Amino acid sequence: MFLARKQTRKLPAKGIPAFQRRLLGWFHRRKRDLPWRRTRDPYRIWLAEIMLQQTRVAAVVPYYRRFLRRFPTLGALAGARSEQVLRLWAGLGYYSRARHLHRAAKEIVARHGGRFPRELEAALRLPGIGRYTAAAVLSIAYGLPEAVLDGNVARVLARLGGLRGDLRAPRRWKHLQSAAQGLLEPAAAGDWNQAMMELGATVCTPRSPRCGACPVSHWCRAYKLGIAEQLPSARRKRAPVKLSLAAAVLLDRQGRTLVLKPGDRDSTKEDAALFSRMWQFPAVRVSSHAERELRRHLRASFGLKGTELVELGAARHSVTYREITLAPFLLRVERLPRLPGARTPLLAALDRLPVSSATRKIAAAALQELPRI
Ligand code: SF4
Repeated sequence: MFLARKQTRKLPAKGIPAFQRRLLGWFHRRKRDLPWRRTRDPYRIWLAEIMLQQTRVAAVVPYYRRFLRRFPTLGALAGARSEQVLRLWAGLGYYSRARHLHRAAKEIVARHGGRFPRELEAALRLPGIGRYTAAAVLSIAYGLPEAVLDGNVARVLARLGGLRGDLRAPRRWKHLQSAAQGLLEPAAAGDWNQAMMELGATVCTPRSPRCGACPVSHWCRAYKLGIAEQLPSARRKRAPVKLSLAAAVLLDRQGRTLVLKPGDRDSTKEDAALFSRMWQFPAVRVSSHAERELRRHLRASFGLKGTELVELGAARHSVTYREITLAPFLLRVERLPRLPGARTPLLAALDRLPVSSATRKIAAAALQELPRI
């Protein structure tokens, strides 16, 4: 057993080689066939790791393929416009990932000759690359002996060692990092890291771990104590914040609508985050009288008077800890306001711009309503 509380600082060497052989053997037999496992190209591995953050494998696969069809190389990505990158990311969420990826690609071209750096320190200096991503890319693409530690791997380690408490507490996380490094098989670092992640994703899952099918149950303290399902200890979650937003879909006779770049005009930084800092309909936070408050906003910000707002179906939306009720309204206008930096795309073709899923929900509600108006 590894990682028992009192023996934490130094891992017992005894048993580790057998543990490594068992886990690697299992991985080679059972690993899922995923597109990013068929390559050693650091760019493709890096892209997969970024897309997989906070996102399920099944959701990532089509995005990954589409992205690589459009940007097959790091150079192609670096040379792209940010709108093109965000458009391909639209729907995957957490858009800062795409922005950082793009900025990092440009930096790699400018400073590293277009090749993902081989040194941990250099990789860590790139935007959007933390210890986990750097270790994953360097070990899988270049075979460097850097152990990964993410939520999956931390859970596996905590159960193997019967470790209680908040795994994200800085001291414990540091300890887990050195435990992960101590278990790493340096001669097969990439496979080893993937094996740990695969075990966490498919067998040692957050709920109902399948200990009966686990290749390393022999070494597992939580299994022996019958406490696998109780570990890791639950973290205290941030209480959700509820808020309401009213949004206006302005529509002219040609079917064009008005979208703004968040942050450009009368939206706070936080409101901009609600639309992932992408093109959005005019919107305002409201309390109890959504329609009245939106009308006031449209008059004050866009000079629209006497507005006939048609209420569309409300939708719910979540962004991290915020639970948002969206109240969209449709407003037909003779002419769309002309604003610097705004755009007036066809409503039906809005998804050609990078927009968040909240904006897509609003557009869908408007399009659904149109034939009836
Ligand atoms: Fe996880 Fe169960 Fe395997 Fe232990 S035996 S590592 S708890 S799946």
